[in-house]
Amino acid sequence: MKAPPRALPTEHSRMLRIPCPYCGPRDEVEFTYGGPTHIARPGLTATDSEWSQYLYYRDNLKGPYRERWLHSYGCGRWFNVLRDTVTHEIQRVYLMGEPP
Ligand SMILES: [Zn+2]
Repeated sequence: MKAPPRALPTEHSRMLRIPCPYCGPRDEVEFTYGGPTHIARPGLTATDSEWSQYLYYRDNLKGPYRERWLHSYGCGRWFNVLRDTVTHEIQRVYLMGEPP
């Protein structure tokens, strides 16, 4: 039996090339997405509603978005990325603890 033809890569199926600040550019499969960065954790006296907002609600922005990535199959370190959610262009990579 003949295998079905493979689909050619399209604009949306291309893999990201993420520049790890410690190892240099690597394919997306080496990384784990960690969600948005610079999210303020509520204080100890926060209400259930405030905790719910912190844990489950995120902006779904179109355009530049700050997010965390873990180089899980590389150096094992977290870092921040400013990525355009429309074009997937990575505009900036910076270390954890650095200001946005
Ligand atoms: Zn790395």
